[in-house]
Amino acid sequence: MHADTYRHRGQRRALVEELRRKGIRSERVLSAVQAVPRHAFFEAAFQQHAYQDKAFPIGEGQTISQPYTVAYQTELLAPEPQHRVLEIGTGSGYQCCVLLELTPHVYSIEYQPVLFERTRRRLAHMHRAAHLFCGDGSLGLPQHAPFDRILVTAGSPTLPRPLLRQLRVGGCLVIPVGDAQVQRMVRVTRVSEEEFTREQFEEFRFVPLLGQAGWNS
Ligand code: SAM
Repeated sequence: MHADTYRHRGQRRALVEELRRKGIRSERVLSAVQAVPRHAFFEAAFQQHAYQDKAFPIGEGQTISQPYTVAYQTELLAPEPQHRVLEIGTGSGYQCCVLLELTPHVYSIEYQPVLFERTRRRLAHMHRAAHLFCGDGSLGLPQHAPFDRILVTAGSPTLPRPLLRQLRVGGCLVIPVGDAQVQRMVRVTRVSEEEFTREQFEEFRFVPLLGQAGWNS
């Protein structure tokens, strides 16, 4: 594993201050960003990019999300330590590790087998214990539902119905929804078995959510 040096921790402190300046308010979320060594998700040749507030390619046409986006989505999600959280789009595993700082009950699913396998090995090496799955996350994980929180880290054309059905009453789904170019961050809260409320936030650019309830539908 990449050593976590004094210099790395200093770079993370600077990143956390940058996120604070950009509007992230939750101290729990900022502490989680401070705790996760983002450079461990980068190949040796690209280490200098680890603490820039930018997305970065991770292979297979996918990206590790920008730290601001990770912090923004996590702040909207507001996971509590007792919550069961489902993440759609494991990618590098970075967001998954930020979630693990906030609750030990993290489930994450990745569509691309190559990324799934690489990240499964990485998180085992880092001793981070999430429940990782490979498959179509647009359908959720019905066998492990209900979830208190569901986070989608890829852009969706609509609100995937399977994910809404897998929310516990009182729980919420945070998901970027829009066309292939730009998506608006949406938070949907399940207020009763049948009733959902919807809030809209800033615009972002995500890679597409594939799968049956995503862009392949
Ligand atoms: N959360 C990731 C991280 O911290 O590195 C970043 C995710 S990247 C922006 C989006 C990920 O969603 C990609 O790894 C992509 O393969 C995955 N993805 C797209 N459609 C999916 C689906 N239907 N089910 C699961 N994962 C999906």
